[in-house]
Amino acid sequence: MKKISVLAASLLIVACSPASEPEPSTSPQMEVDPYSFNENYRDYLATLSSDEFEGRAPASKGEELTVEFVSDKFRSWGLKPFNEETGSYRQEVPLVKMTPYSVSEMTFSDSDLSAFSYKQDMMAWSPRVQEEVSLDGSEMVFAGYGIVAPEFGWNDYEGLDVAGKTVVVLVNDPGYDTGDPEVFNGKAMTYYGRWTYKFEEASRQGAAGIIVIHETGPAGYGWGVIAGGSPVRFDLARENKNMDRTEIEGWITQEAADKLFARVGSSYTEMREQAQQPDFQPVALNTAMSITVQSDFEYLNSPNLIGYIEGSKAPEEHVIYMAHWDHLGMNPISSDDQIYNGAQDNASGTAGVLALAEFYASQPQPERSVVFVLVTAEERGLLGSNWYANNPMLPLSQAVAGINMDVLNVYGPMQDMVVVGHGNSELEEYLGKYVEQQGRYVAPEPTPEAGSFYRSDHFNLAKRGVPMLYAKGGNDHVEFGVEYGKEKRAEYVQVAYHKPADEYDPEWDLRGVQQDLWLYYWIGNELANSDSWPNWYAGNEFRATRDATADQRQ
Ligand SMILES: [Zn+2]
Repeated sequence: MKKISVLAASLLIVACSPASEPEPSTSPQMEVDPYSFNENYRDYLATLSSDEFEGRAPASKGEELTVEFVSDKFRSWGLKPFNEETGSYRQEVPLVKMTPYSVSEMTFSDSDLSAFSYKQDMMAWSPRVQEEVSLDGSEMVFAGYGIVAPEFGWNDYEGLDVAGKTVVVLVNDPGYDTGDPEVFNGKAMTYYGRWTYKFEEASRQGAAGIIVIHETGPAGYGWGVIAGGSPVRFDLARENKNMDRTEIEGWITQEAADKLFARVGSSYTEMREQAQQPDFQPVALNTAMSITVQSDFEYLNSPNLIGYIEGSKAPEEHVIYMAHWDHLGMNPISSDDQIYNGAQDNASGTAGVLALAEFYASQPQPERSVVFVLVTAEERGLLGSNWYANNPMLPLSQAVAGINMDVLNVYGPMQDMVVVGHGNSELEEYLGKYVEQQGRYVAPEPTPEAGSFYRSDHFNLAKRGVPMLYAKGGNDHVEFGVEYGKEKRAEYVQVAYHKPADEYDPEWDLRGVQQDLWLYYWIGNELANSDSWPNWYAGNEFRATRDATADQRQ
């Protein structure tokens, strides 16, 4: 049975305000049951994470069932389809599966430098969709952190011509390494600290290759995670076959870096210190590197699922709710449980988007559109959201804000609402207002140095300037306190995260999700019935991109 409160409709009376501050509070929490936003949530969660759905891998039977389930729901609630002509909610995302079957040693022109062997000293692959890729005597240069960040007054590539060369760079950013809160964001990771950024920047600079030096602390994981993982990679199948990317990407160990730097009379520690100085100059490593990678390719398709409610007044302007529907699928050679159900990751978020869509559909039409985007292939590298960011249903300059849901809280009502990437945008003020009305408090994420903000789908829209909120119930359990919450979370990471044990448990206390769904709804609904344009805070790395389209928002 569906139980939806009509009292939330009282929230719809929101005056137009030119500023981006949230409207004064109307105390919605006094009028609704905070623990029952949409009672169908549990059904959606249980269905999506059932064994029948086989762990929802892209291009699998589980995908078919997920597409059917979501499309049927969207249709029954009268959501408009992504494809007006065919009535389909599918946005096809072309993917390519890349399997390197042979990676040579990394050899050097400097005869005193012995070759680096695959997995032991280095990991390498090609981002290009090309059977064989070789670097043959590519000169190596140390380019510090490999960062160009005008808002932080930083440019490691200044005056450096990298054409044909391979750049060697440090992991993370200078703020992390110095611990100085005045440098970048101090210990909290910025987008510039992510290795994905470093690969992208090296491509923009026109380098032939890029190698990141691994160090466990600033990387956030050990060498084993890099060398021990599957070499199979997925990417969007682009027309240019990624020919605009460097030929080779990879990692080397700290020990391997020491050997490289010793050839120019230095060491990893010394170079790292040098790179932290604002007057750092790139260092030629006086050796040329050669390597060959051979790969197989397989093309597949998997859809994003998109339904929306059209705004009555400004239909192009829109609020986005987002979650990834995909998970890891099955491991058919396991003798144990073969199904990676992905109940928390991310049937919980997918069910959240469904619960919100259903609720919105039961309410008066909003002034701006509300778009529900369930993306594919997050687990393959945020690919569905990447595709959406490049092929949005409505122009992203007209996206007011987005709310992402990934691994929602299934451990009961929490006092705290944790904002991942805390201190980023004005959306936190909207959240703060409603969190307070629930008698709860906003908490920054406990480990900002892990860079979690850059590791879920909202990030692809953030990169395009769209203010994105990624927040969820934390650890401070209403009845059992902080230790209980922490214990539950640690247990999940240990036992279930990305394992077959991430299964639905009928004992789960879903009152916490219900609380959070109210918040997601109140924020989105306020924005969908206003003419406000919340922005990133000044100094944030996405602010300039957003401001570049400001004249399109009047
Ligand atoms: Zn996830």
